[in-house]
Amino acid sequence: MNVDKTVLSPQRGRCALGFPLPKFGTDGDPGAVSMNAVSKALDELVTLRGGEKPAPSPPASTIGLVPAEWMPAAKMERIILHWTAGAHKAGEFDRSHYHILIEEEGKLIRGIPSIKLNEAPAKKGYAAHTLGANSGPIGVSLCCMAGANEAPFDPGKYPMTRKQWDGLTSVVADLCRRYSIPITDKTVLSHAEVQNNLGIQQRGKWDFTRLAFDPSIKGANACGDKLRAEASAIL
Ligand SMILES: [Zn+2]
Repeated sequence: MNVDKTVLSPQRGRCALGFPLPKFGTDGDPGAVSMNAVSKALDELVTLRGGEKPAPSPPASTIGLVPAEWMPAAKMERIILHWTAGAHKAGEFDRSHYHILIEEEGKLIRGIPSIKLNEAPAKKGYAAHTLGANSGPIGVSLCCMAGANEAPFDPGKYPMTRKQWDGLTSVVADLCRRYSIPITDKTVLSHAEVQNNLGIQQRGKWDFTRLAFDPSIKGANACGDKLRAEASAIL
Protein backbone atom coordinates (compact mmCIF):
# COMPACT_ATOMS: atom_id res chain seq x y z
CA MET A 1 0.00 0.00 0.00
CA ASN A 2 1.34 3.38 -0.92
CA VAL A 3 1.18 5.31 2.33
CA ASP A 4 3.46 8.19 3.20
CA LYS A 5 4.85 7.15 6.56
CA THR A 6 6.20 10.57 7.40
CA VAL A 7 2.78 12.19 7.68
CA LEU A 8 0.77 9.40 9.29
CA SER A 9 -0.63 10.11 12.71
CA PRO A 10 -2.10 7.03 14.43
CA GLN A 11 -5.66 8.21 13.65
CA ARG A 12 -4.93 9.15 10.08
CA GLY A 13 -3.10 5.91 9.71
CA ARG A 14 -6.10 3.89 10.70
CA CYS A 15 -8.24 5.76 8.17
CA ALA A 16 -5.62 5.62 5.46
CA LEU A 17 -5.37 1.88 5.84
CA GLY A 18 -8.95 1.50 4.72
CA PHE A 19 -11.27 0.77 7.60
CA PRO A 20 -13.64 2.98 9.55
CA LEU A 21 -12.78 4.23 12.98
CA PRO A 22 -14.86 2.80 15.81
CA LYS A 23 -17.89 4.93 16.54
CA PHE A 24 -17.52 7.01 19.67
CA GLY A 25 -20.76 8.56 20.74
CA THR A 26 -21.76 8.35 24.35
CA ASP A 27 -19.76 5.15 24.49
CA GLY A 28 -16.29 5.62 23.16
CA ASP A 29 -14.90 2.38 24.48
CA PRO A 30 -12.71 0.72 21.91
CA GLY A 31 -12.89 -2.50 23.94
CA ALA A 32 -15.06 -4.49 21.58
CA VAL A 33 -13.42 -3.59 18.33
CA SER A 34 -12.15 -6.96 17.33
CA MET A 35 -12.74 -7.29 13.63
CA ASN A 36 -10.07 -9.07 11.65
CA ALA A 37 -9.77 -5.97 9.53
CA VAL A 38 -8.69 -3.93 12.49
CA SER A 39 -6.09 -6.46 13.47
CA LYS A 40 -4.71 -6.74 9.96
CA ALA A 41 -4.55 -3.01 9.45
CA LEU A 42 -2.86 -2.53 12.81
CA ASP A 43 -0.24 -5.08 11.84
CA GLU A 44 0.33 -3.25 8.57
CA LEU A 45 0.65 0.01 10.42
CA VAL A 46 3.12 -1.43 12.90
CA THR A 47 5.14 -2.83 9.99
CA LEU A 48 5.13 0.55 8.26
CA ARG A 49 6.40 2.13 11.40
CA GLY A 50 9.30 -0.26 11.69
CA GLY A 51 7.71 -2.46 14.32
CA GLU A 52 6.83 0.06 16.95
CA LYS A 53 4.20 2.70 17.56
CA PRO A 54 5.55 6.14 18.42
CA ALA A 55 5.45 6.76 22.15
CA PRO A 56 5.18 10.39 23.26
CA SER A 57 6.36 9.24 26.72
CA PRO A 58 3.15 9.64 28.73
CA PRO A 59 3.28 9.87 32.51
CA ALA A 60 4.20 6.46 33.88
CA SER A 61 4.56 5.05 37.36
CA THR A 62 6.35 2.24 39.09
CA ILE A 63 4.58 -1.09 38.84
CA GLY A 64 1.42 -1.44 40.86
CA LEU A 65 1.40 1.88 42.68
CA VAL A 66 -0.93 4.67 41.63
CA PRO A 67 0.78 8.04 42.26
CA ALA A 68 -1.19 10.32 44.58
CA GLU A 69 -1.36 13.09 41.98
CA TRP A 70 -3.24 10.76 39.62
CA MET A 71 -6.01 10.49 42.23
CA PRO A 72 -7.44 14.00 42.77
CA ALA A 73 -10.12 14.61 45.37
CA ALA A 74 -13.47 13.56 43.85
CA LYS A 75 -16.56 11.60 44.76
CA MET A 76 -16.24 8.43 42.70
CA GLU A 77 -18.81 5.65 42.89
CA ARG A 78 -17.28 2.69 41.12
CA ILE A 79 -14.44 1.29 39.02
CA ILE A 80 -15.07 -0.27 35.62
CA LEU A 81 -12.34 -2.51 34.20
CA HIS A 82 -11.58 -2.88 30.51
CA TRP A 83 -9.07 -3.95 27.95
CA THR A 84 -8.13 -1.63 25.09
CA ALA A 85 -8.43 -4.19 22.27
CA GLY A 86 -5.12 -2.66 21.22
CA ALA A 87 -1.48 -3.64 21.46
CA HIS A 88 0.60 -4.06 24.65
CA LYS A 89 1.57 -0.38 24.85
CA ALA A 90 -0.73 2.56 25.56
CA GLY A 91 -1.06 4.88 22.56
CA GLU A 92 -2.61 8.32 22.71
CA PHE A 93 -5.83 6.90 21.28
CA ASP A 94 -6.08 4.49 24.23
CA ARG A 95 -5.09 7.16 26.75
CA SER A 96 -7.99 9.40 25.74
CA HIS A 97 -10.60 6.86 26.90
CA TYR A 98 -9.38 5.72 30.31
CA HIS A 99 -7.95 7.17 33.52
CA ILE A 100 -5.28 4.55 34.07
CA LEU A 101 -3.83 2.01 31.65
CA ILE A 102 -1.65 -1.00 32.39
CA GLU A 103 0.96 -2.17 29.88
CA GLU A 104 2.30 -5.64 29.20
CA GLU A 105 4.87 -5.66 32.02
CA GLY A 106 2.48 -4.10 34.53
CA LYS A 107 3.68 -0.52 34.08
CA LEU A 108 0.98 2.08 34.78
CA ILE A 109 0.26 4.84 32.27
CA ARG A 110 -1.89 7.82 33.12
CA GLY A 111 -4.82 8.44 30.79
CA ILE A 112 -5.46 11.91 29.41
CA PRO A 113 -8.74 12.76 31.24
CA SER A 114 -8.52 13.41 34.97
CA ILE A 115 -10.55 11.12 37.23
CA LYS A 116 -12.24 14.29 38.50
CA LEU A 117 -13.91 14.83 35.09
CA ASN A 118 -15.92 11.62 35.54
CA GLU A 119 -17.31 12.66 38.91
CA ALA A 120 -21.11 12.74 38.49
CA PRO A 121 -22.30 14.52 36.44
CA ALA A 122 -19.44 13.92 33.99
CA LYS A 123 -17.70 17.10 32.78
CA LYS A 124 -16.48 18.04 29.32
CA GLY A 125 -13.46 15.97 28.36
CA TYR A 126 -14.39 13.01 30.59
CA ALA A 127 -13.10 9.54 29.85
CA ALA A 128 -15.74 7.89 27.62
CA HIS A 129 -15.19 4.25 28.47
CA THR A 130 -18.60 2.70 29.16
CA LEU A 131 -21.82 3.32 27.21
CA GLY A 132 -24.32 5.28 29.31
CA ALA A 133 -22.30 4.84 32.50
CA ASN A 134 -19.52 7.42 32.48
CA SER A 135 -20.80 9.56 35.37
CA GLY A 136 -19.23 8.34 38.59
CA PRO A 137 -16.92 5.53 37.49
CA ILE A 138 -13.17 5.40 37.16
CA GLY A 139 -12.07 3.63 33.95
CA VAL A 140 -9.03 1.34 34.12
CA SER A 141 -7.85 -0.58 31.07
CA LEU A 142 -5.33 -3.30 30.29
CA CYS A 143 -3.38 -2.69 27.07
CA CYS A 144 -4.01 -5.92 25.18
CA MET A 145 -6.27 -8.15 23.10
CA ALA A 146 -6.08 -6.54 19.63
CA GLY A 147 -7.58 -8.97 17.15
CA ALA A 148 -8.86 -11.30 19.87
CA ASN A 149 -11.95 -13.47 19.40
CA GLU A 150 -14.33 -14.61 22.12
CA ALA A 151 -15.67 -17.87 20.69
CA PRO A 152 -13.76 -19.86 19.81
CA PHE A 153 -11.42 -18.08 22.20
CA ASP A 154 -8.33 -16.65 20.54
CA PRO A 155 -6.42 -14.01 22.52
CA GLY A 156 -4.67 -12.76 19.37
CA LYS A 157 -1.14 -11.39 19.23
CA TYR A 158 -1.40 -9.24 22.36
CA PRO A 159 -2.85 -11.51 25.04
CA MET A 160 -3.61 -10.24 28.54
CA THR A 161 -0.62 -11.07 30.74
CA ARG A 162 -0.47 -12.19 34.37
CA LYS A 163 1.60 -9.08 35.16
CA GLN A 164 -1.17 -6.87 33.80
CA TRP A 165 -3.73 -8.71 35.89
CA ASP A 166 -1.62 -8.42 39.04
CA GLY A 167 -1.12 -4.73 38.29
CA LEU A 168 -4.87 -4.37 37.96
CA THR A 169 -5.62 -5.88 41.36
CA SER A 170 -3.10 -3.47 42.96
CA VAL A 171 -4.56 -0.49 41.11
CA VAL A 172 -8.09 -1.45 42.16
CA ALA A 173 -6.97 -1.73 45.78
CA ASP A 174 -5.29 1.71 45.62
CA LEU A 175 -8.36 3.32 44.06
CA CYS A 176 -10.79 1.68 46.51
CA ARG A 177 -8.72 2.95 49.42
CA ARG A 178 -8.37 6.48 48.01
CA TYR A 179 -12.03 6.92 47.07
CA SER A 180 -13.62 4.74 49.77
CA ILE A 181 -15.20 2.48 47.15
CA PRO A 182 -16.44 -0.85 48.56
CA ILE A 183 -15.60 -4.00 46.61
CA THR A 184 -18.94 -5.36 45.40
CA ASP A 185 -20.08 -6.61 41.99
CA LYS A 186 -21.81 -3.27 41.39
CA THR A 187 -18.91 -1.04 42.43
CA VAL A 188 -15.86 -2.92 41.11
CA LEU A 189 -16.74 -4.69 37.91
CA SER A 190 -15.57 -5.43 34.40
CA HIS A 191 -17.19 -3.92 31.36
CA ALA A 192 -18.59 -7.36 30.53
CA GLU A 193 -20.55 -7.29 33.81
CA VAL A 194 -22.06 -3.81 33.38
CA GLN A 195 -25.18 -4.89 31.50
CA ASN A 196 -26.19 -7.57 34.01
CA ASN A 197 -24.97 -5.97 37.23
CA LEU A 198 -25.98 -2.36 36.56
CA GLY A 199 -28.82 -2.90 34.09
CA ILE A 200 -27.23 -0.61 31.51
CA GLN A 201 -27.32 -2.07 28.01
CA GLN A 202 -23.93 -2.49 26.32
CA ARG A 203 -23.09 -3.61 22.83
CA GLY A 204 -21.75 -7.12 23.25
CA LYS A 205 -18.64 -6.11 25.21
CA TRP A 206 -16.59 -9.09 26.40
CA ASP A 207 -13.83 -7.29 28.30
CA PHE A 208 -13.48 -9.49 30.08
CA THR A 209 -15.06 -12.94 29.91
CA ARG A 210 -11.78 -14.77 29.30
CA LEU A 211 -8.31 -14.43 30.81
CA ALA A 212 -5.57 -15.31 28.35
CA PHE A 213 -3.14 -16.40 31.10
CA ASP A 214 -5.72 -18.68 32.76
CA PRO A 215 -8.14 -20.28 30.29
CA SER A 216 -9.84 -22.24 33.10
CA ILE A 217 -11.68 -19.07 34.19
CA LYS A 218 -14.69 -18.52 31.95
CA GLY A 219 -17.47 -15.96 31.95
CA ALA A 220 -17.89 -12.37 33.07
CA ASN A 221 -18.87 -13.22 36.65
CA ALA A 222 -16.04 -15.71 37.15
CA CYS A 223 -13.46 -13.21 35.91
CA GLY A 224 -14.98 -10.39 37.98
CA ASP A 225 -15.19 -12.54 41.11
CA LYS A 226 -11.51 -13.46 40.77
CA LEU A 227 -10.54 -9.79 40.46
CA ARG A 228 -12.65 -8.77 43.45
CA ALA A 229 -11.32 -11.59 45.62
CA GLU A 230 -7.70 -10.73 44.83
CA ALA A 231 -8.19 -6.98 45.33
CA SER A 232 -10.01 -7.64 48.63
CA ALA A 233 -7.08 -9.77 49.76
CA ILE A 234 -4.73 -6.80 49.25
CA LEU A 235 -6.92 -4.42 51.25
ZN1 LIG B 1 -14.59 -1.87 27.70
